[in-house]
Parts: sequence; C-alpha cells; structure tokens
Amino acid sequence: MRLPGNNLDSISPAARAVLDRGAALFVGGEAIPSATGAEIPVYDPSSARQISVLADGGAEDVDQAVAAAAAAFPRWRATAPAERERLLWRWAALIEQNADLLAEIETIDVGMPLWMSRRMEMGATLGAIRYMAGWPTKIAGQTVDVGVPIPGSQFVGYTVREPVGVVAAIIPWNVPMMMAAWKIAPAVAAGCTIVVKPSEVAGLSVLVLADLARQAGFPDGVINVVTGKGSVVGQALVRHKDVAKVTFTGSTTTGVAIATAAAASAKKVTLELGGKSPQILFADADLNSAIDGICNGIFLHSGQICVAGSRLYVERPALDEVVEKLRAWADSRVVGPGLVPDTQIGPVVSDTQKAKILGYLSGAGQEGADIVTADPDVDGDGYYLRPTVVANATPSMQVVREEVFGPVLTVAAFDDADEAVALANDTDYGLSACVWTSNLATAHRIIPQIRSGKVAVNTDPLPYPALPEGGRRASGYGRDLGQEGLDGFLETKSVLIRTA
Ligand code: NAP
Ligand code: MG
Repeated sequence: MRLPGNNLDSISPAARAVLDRGAALFVGGEAIPSATGAEIPVYDPSSARQISVLADGGAEDVDQAVAAAAAAFPRWRATAPAERERLLWRWAALIEQNADLLAEIETIDVGMPLWMSRRMEMGATLGAIRYMAGWPTKIAGQTVDVGVPIPGSQFVGYTVREPVGVVAAIIPWNVPMMMAAWKIAPAVAAGCTIVVKPSEVAGLSVLVLADLARQAGFPDGVINVVTGKGSVVGQALVRHKDVAKVTFTGSTTTGVAIATAAAASAKKVTLELGGKSPQILFADADLNSAIDGICNGIFLHSGQICVAGSRLYVERPALDEVVEKLRAWADSRVVGPGLVPDTQIGPVVSDTQKAKILGYLSGAGQEGADIVTADPDVDGDGYYLRPTVVANATPSMQVVREEVFGPVLTVAAFDDADEAVALANDTDYGLSACVWTSNLATAHRIIPQIRSGKVAVNTDPLPYPALPEGGRRASGYGRDLGQEGLDGFLETKSVLIRTA
C-alpha cells in the first residue's frame, strides 16, 4: 500500500494564509521582499508537494538586517530589564495563543506528527522563552575587594555584564521553531539584537514567531529573520563586520567551517553540532519502561534530533530479550502523514535525507549487521521510513560511527560496566548519553566517566530549560538553555576605580 501525504484541503484558514502569503524576510519590524527577488520552494515531506516559498536572500539583505539590528542595539540594551522581561512574557503568551497554527505549520513543513509539534516542540519553545524571561532583572556582576600595594591608595573594583551586540543565529531544519526560540530568547534577554537564518529546508514557523514578537511589542530591528542559503546568507552573516557573535546549531562540518570563518574577525562562536549518542542498558533495569524510553530517545521525530540515542549497548544476558522487544516496539509503530491523528512517526524531512539513511542501512547490511525490523523503505508519496533496529553492530561500522540523523538504532552487547563506558566513549562526538539501570550506585559510578555534555538516567534526554544543552569534541562548544545559555550572549567588563 502506498502511504498518502497530508490532506492540505482540511488545514485551518490561518495555516493556509501562512502558506500562501509569499516570500518575505522579516527585517526592521516588517515583512519585506528580498533584494534578490529569488525564491526557494518549500515542500511538505509527507507528499513531496511544493506548498509554499521562502525568500532566497542575498548579501544585500544580510547587510540590511544587520544594519537594522545594529541600529536597534543601543536602545534595546538600555531598555529596562523589567521591560525586556515583560516583552518576553507577552511574546510567549501570543505564541501560546497561536500554538495550534504554529504546530500545524511546523508539521506541514518538517513532517513531525501534530502531537509532537503541538505538545513537545511547543512545550520546549515556550519553556525556553519563559525561563529566559526571568533573567533580565537578575543579570549581575560581582564586587571585588581590590588591594593594590600602593601605600595610602584605595580602589573599588567590580564587574558588569554587558550584551555582546548583534548576534547571528544559524539554525537547522529539524525543530526550527524551538531552535529559533532557544537562540532568540537568551539573546534578547541579555540585551542583544539578533538576525536569524533558518534552514532553507524549513523556516516558515520562524517567520511566524518573528511576526508574533512584533505584535508583542518588541522594538523594530531587535529580532530579524533572513531566509536563504547557508552558502550565501549564512556565510555573509558569519563574515559581517558588525556581527559580534554567531550561535549555530547543525552539522559538525558546517560548524567547523563557520568557526574557521568567524575566527578571521575574532567573533564569539557557539556550536551545537551533531552527535552519536550512546545508550547503556544494564540487565537490572526495568526493561519495559527502558524499552519505551530507549525507543523514544531514538525514534521520536524519526531520529532527527541532535541528542538522539542512536547506539544501544545492552548487558549481554538481556541482549536477546531486548532485541526482540525493540523489534516489537518498532514494528508496531504507525508511520504516516503528520496531520493524521493516529500517526506516531512522520516522514523524514527530504528525499536527500531518506536516500542518505537508506544508504547507511544497506552499508550496514554489507558490513555484516542484521536489520531485525520490517523493511525500512515505505512506499509513499513522501519520504517515509520505518523505525529500524540494526543488531550485531560492531564499533568500526559506518552506521555506528557516523551521525545518521534518521530512525536507526544500532545494538551491541557488553559484559561489564568498564566495557560499556569504553564502547559509549568510542566516538568523535560527545553530546548526550542515556543510562538505564535500577542500581543508582552503578549510574553514579559511570556518569563521571562518560564523555558528553549530558547524561540522562532512566529517561530519554528531554530538554529542560534550566539545564544547559551542548556538547564536547565534535559535538561543539558553548551551551543553549540554562544560565550558561544566557552567559553566551554576555561579556564581562571589569571596572577599577581609584578612590584615594
Ligand atoms: P547544516 O548543513 O549544518 O545546516 C545548518 C544551518 O547552517 C542551515 O541553516 C544551513 O543553511 C546553514 N549553513 C550551511 N552551510 C553554511 C555555511 N557555509 N555558512 C553558514 N551557514 C551555513 O545542517 P543541515 O543541512 O540542516 O543538516 C545536515 C546534517 O546536519 C544532518 O544530516 C545532521 O547530521 C546534522 N544536523 C544536526 C542537528 C543538530 O541539532 N545537532 C540538526 C540538524 C541537522 P541551509 O539550510 O541553507 O544549507
Ligand atoms: Mg519543508
């Protein structure tokens, strides 16, 4: 049977208006056409049908957006912290009022099931904005007891925290609304102004967010969005002399290129890159809840989440039972178009991603691994793939080493905790990890040994706004969320005053 795509005849009039409104950037508080006049087609991944357009911006558009952000910066940084908080709260309230519309747009644009965009992505979007809304009135420096050995002298020393200036945020296609909020909220809370470049694959919801910020009362130029290609708009932002900081989420290759280009003008850079995150399952874990958590940790949003736990290591006595339970979980999932309420797993985002994922799976077969789940390739109008479990995966296989960014879980056995840790750390990445055990002593013993920015125990690694998200090594540096997420948009100034 061929799976159909979303039925777009039944979407809300508000969603239809967003799809039909034509290509525009959001600069200086208004929707404007790009100087290039060029457009990028937008596709629904459930049907491969073109549903809308984005403006294909150019260097001139970047200049205009950065100029708007730079012009807004002096007034925005001088805006009372309580007023910045009020605007962030107001923005969150408007987003919540428009939650159904935003979720619908996100599902049509990216492919995820509606329950996921409406509850999970929306929750993580609002959570981040409301968490950051609390910060402006609490940003503070330190007073320092300065004793300089000059007889008879006295000094006062203190630090102040200042916004870095104009920020460029370059974000991926997987959860565009949440990614935009994770960058915009801390930047504007800190007193920075921002230009966001969404992915050319999915950016409709980001433009809606920017318009809601205007409605909330953010001054013109504080939040700007320039859509277009990474090689054009992204590069121009990274090289722009008036951009003080680049905050990036996406692939390691692009992140390294961005950091290299940004180094030429000594810009601050935060990189939230890919991952190949391990999950370690001890035989003493509550297997039924562990299976559910392990599967959600990789298969939710078809594995298109940076912290996806894509490598599972199982304590050997539990291996056969676990593989059978994983197979049953995966094979019972309902794959389909995101707007259909029964759908548990939507399509992946593009034909390129689908082909890349199937390539990893055929490579795994050739290297001797066993695909224990049903045929991953689903015939359909869109880019459907079934959740896939790859057993007998060995450390050197490409599917174990590289980020697949798809619904693929590799499984292998371990004999003791030391081996589990060694296998978990056998990667260039270091983003996240999950440990499943009923023995907290075991968990505490291995948490310090795992080389990653995050360790989740007996849960999938869901984001919480007060806990920083980010990686080590090939997974990048700097953090989103939490106080550290805010700190990335602040500079410290030391003040020394001689009073006698
Ligand atoms: P990507 O190529 O790294 O793109 C991320 C963002 O960077 C996009 O907005 C992209 O624009 C932009 N960009 C690309 N080249 C640039 C350049 N030279 N200078 C400045 N900006 C540039 O990632 P992707 O295409 O979205 O996905 C590819 C792979 O990245 C995935 O398969 C996955 O492995 C990984 N990924 C990781 C995460 C994560 O959260 N860690 C999220 C998504 C994807 P365009 O879209 O216009 O190219
Ligand atoms: Mg799309």
